[in-house]
Formats: sequence, C-alpha cells, structure tokens
Amino acid sequence: MKLLIFDLDGVIYAGDEVKPFAADTIKTLRNRGFSISFLTNNSTRSRKYYSEKLTSMGIPATPDDVMSSAVAACCRLEEKSPGGARVFIVGEEGLREELAQFTIVDAEDRETADYVVVGYDREFTYRKMADAFDALQAGAELIATNKDATFPVEGGRLLPGGGTIVAALEAAWGRKSFVCGKPNAFGIHRLMEHANATADETMLIGDRAETDILAGRNAGVTTCLVLTGITKFEELDSLPDNCRPHYVIENLGALPPLLDTPA
Ligand SMILES: [Mg+2]
Repeated sequence: MKLLIFDLDGVIYAGDEVKPFAADTIKTLRNRGFSISFLTNNSTRSRKYYSEKLTSMGIPATPDDVMSSAVAACCRLEEKSPGGARVFIVGEEGLREELAQFTIVDAEDRETADYVVVGYDREFTYRKMADAFDALQAGAELIATNKDATFPVEGGRLLPGGGTIVAALEAAWGRKSFVCGKPNAFGIHRLMEHANATADETMLIGDRAETDILAGRNAGVTTCLVLTGITKFEELDSLPDNCRPHYVIENLGALPPLLDTPA
C-alpha cells in the first residue's frame, strides 16, 4: 500500500470529537511513509475548514489532503467544461467556495445555467426547487455532490441528507443526476492520480458500507470497514457483495498492525 484514503465522519471524528487512536494512527502511518488523504461526502464546508479542523484535532492536514464531494463536483465541471461554465447552486457555503472559479448564476438568471449543482442545503425551499427545475428544463445538467439519504447527528438522531434534495429534483425532471461523491469512484480516482498511486497500492477506510466501501469497490481498491460509525458488526452478513469490505477493524488502532500483515 502507498495511499490510504480515510473517510472523515465516523472514522476520524464524530462531530467535534476525535475518534480513539485516530491521531496516533495517522501519525504512525505517515512516519511509515504512507500518503494520507481524506475523502468526505459532506459538501457544506470547504477544504480549508476540514484541514483546520483536522489540524486542531492533532492530525496536521493541508487543504490539498482533503477531497470533499464539493471538490469532486468542481473537478467534474473542470473536466466537462474546461473553458468555464455557468452554475446554479442548491447548497451551502462550502459548495459555493469550491465552485468559485465558475460563474455562479442567481435565481434571476437561472435559465442561463449550464449546470445545476446540488448539495446538502439547510435553507432548501420549494422556491429553490422550482428555480432549479426551471434551469433543468432550460437545458442545464443536474450534478449531485452526493445522494446520501440520511446522516447521523448527536444523540443518535438521523436527519434527511442532501440525497433527499437530489431525489426531489430528479422526480420533477424525470432523469438521473451525475453523482460526484461516494459511492462514485470519481473522488478516489482523483486522489490516486494526485498521489501517483495505482488501485493495487490504495486502500479506502470508511464506516459506511453502502457509500465508502461501495466507492472503494467501484474504484477497484482495497477496502477496510471501521466499526466506529454507521455500519454495525451485526449487519456485515447481510451486505450485498459489492458493499463487502476486504477487512473489518474495530477501531483505527488496528490499522497499523493490519498494514504490517502481508495480504
Ligand atoms: Mg463516514
């Protein structure tokens, strides 16, 4: 292994709480020469925010170490429209920041948009949905940062995720979006290119089988499920084949010894 890609929530931290062994494990693995990257489906914050959060938790990181679904959306637009594009955004500040290189159109000019990019948006309204739908009917393409249906918050409560907003627009439009975040392998491929690593040299470590592990499987990399987040030990037997991890560990403290063991 050369490149290790870590999901954030449920793996490195839960909200503002760093997970046991996370900081020591990352330090140990860096000292052993592994490239470390972080890949999150959350589109509400910028890379700068995540790198500062990680650093404050004792895991020094730069914005370049982090790939979010908002960054993946930016990469997708760069690939498809290298000359620039007009974008109507349904999402929060992090998404706006990462897409700042494009022309962001407001509701008034929605029908001139080339793309509607959708992320989690706590101020989503029927009005916004109707505006985005106008843009789609006028020929814009629908790009989803992720299709996560739910996400957990403190106290074990589940909230509707960005995927619910994407689903509303897909229902109106009658077509499917392009999904940039996990389980699409898109973000993993970009990180592999950046680290000059092949699929054989890359491991994805995540806590959610149907996004993290499926993304890793889609990318053809080795996958490791850590049981400190969403997917529970009891669920392992009932997972579909493409969501089955190669390895399962109880917490990140078990990762350095696992990487010592020949496959
Ligand atoms: Mg997670």
